[in-house]
Amino acid sequence: MSLGTVVIAVPKETAPNEKRVASVPEVVQKLVKSGLEVRVEHDAGLNAFYPDDLFATAGAKIVSGRENLLRGAGIVLCVQPPTAPEVDQFDEGSVVIGFMNPTSNLPAIARMRDRKITAFSLELVPRITRAQSMDALSSQATAGGYVAAILGAENCPKFLPMLTTAAGTIRPATVLILGAGVAGLMAIATAKRLGAIVEAYDVRRAAGEQVRSLGAKFLELEINAEGQGGYARELTAEEKEKEQLMVSAAVAKADIVITTAAIPGRRAPVLITKETVAKMRPGAVIIDMAAETGGNCELTQSGKTIHLHGVTIIGPQNLPARIPFHSSQMYAKNLQAFLTLLIDKEGSLIREFSDEILAASLLVHAGEVRYGPTRDLLAGGKQ
Ligand code: NAD
Repeated sequence: MSLGTVVIAVPKETAPNEKRVASVPEVVQKLVKSGLEVRVEHDAGLNAFYPDDLFATAGAKIVSGRENLLRGAGIVLCVQPPTAPEVDQFDEGSVVIGFMNPTSNLPAIARMRDRKITAFSLELVPRITRAQSMDALSSQATAGGYVAAILGAENCPKFLPMLTTAAGTIRPATVLILGAGVAGLMAIATAKRLGAIVEAYDVRRAAGEQVRSLGAKFLELEINAEGQGGYARELTAEEKEKEQLMVSAAVAKADIVITTAAIPGRRAPVLITKETVAKMRPGAVIIDMAAETGGNCELTQSGKTIHLHGVTIIGPQNLPARIPFHSSQMYAKNLQAFLTLLIDKEGSLIREFSDEILAASLLVHAGEVRYGPTRDLLAGGKQ
């Protein structure tokens, strides 16, 4: 290692059931080729099926022990937000990139501020064309939407495709997707490939064209709730009532319902009430992808599966971690693209974050929390 070589550290994720890893051998090889040193913690990729020897062949140094990994590391790549005790292990002044949960992981963010760590939050990467290759929210939502459709099929007591057999004709199952953003569109495409009849609904009218282009039916209301930055806004009371009526009729006819509706920074909207669940077909399944932010179904319990009136309601957590090989690969490529903004042609770390993407995703720097909503929350809680 020459003097001034930037050292990138890839720790083993420690959150329960987190199987992803922030980099993969294919990406490590490119980083090493561009003059960076990459250290990977022993067994960091084991649960995603990237064993140490593949990382070593790609040019990474395999390091045992967190202290050895982080000492002298200029950049740390992570998937899950670091916890406060983990932050204490980072070198002062180092740069951490990953999901940060900017409005809920407050104790760790305060520690990063106090220890003069620089943190970039992938949740804050703007959704502009130039940032598409770095959009980890989208890559992981794609993985999540796929897994949700598979989970729905696995828990459904029916075939999804139409079958004509000597034992009779089987009618195709109906899959309803509520919320046709990145995850919802992937769930639609996956359910279509499995042969189901697919219907979808979103409050953004622009989603209709995308839904139809996947061969699914778009359920339309006289509402267009497109808000800032292409995201949805909250509905008015009158709009919510109209939505309830239409959604409840569609849910009652579906065999599998996959819900993905979210409004940034808010609790997930309730689209399926307990009364609607009572009207569902026996054997019907709800996969509530919004479980971790409150749930789109009133009865969802995050991390649990419940059975009621013959209906199975699943509130999964961290769906992308269920296909860790590919979700890690996509995430690693997002980080590789992000690093191109942070490292100059000579292989040095850039200290001036005026680039639009860096400026928007900079959460903590030089002892200051740079993202307003997090700063306000910290000021409110006096952390
Ligand atoms: P998200 O996870 O915030 O929400 C998921 C979906 O839920 C959205 O489509 C939203 O409209 C929908 N929703 C919210 N309230 C609803 C309700 N009451 N009923 C039904 N549906 C409801 O969204 P996302 O998947 O992250 O994407 C949101 C937008 O961002 C989309 O327009 C997407 O095309 C756009 N996007 C742009 C880029 C880019 O340009 N680089 C990248 C990714 C996403």
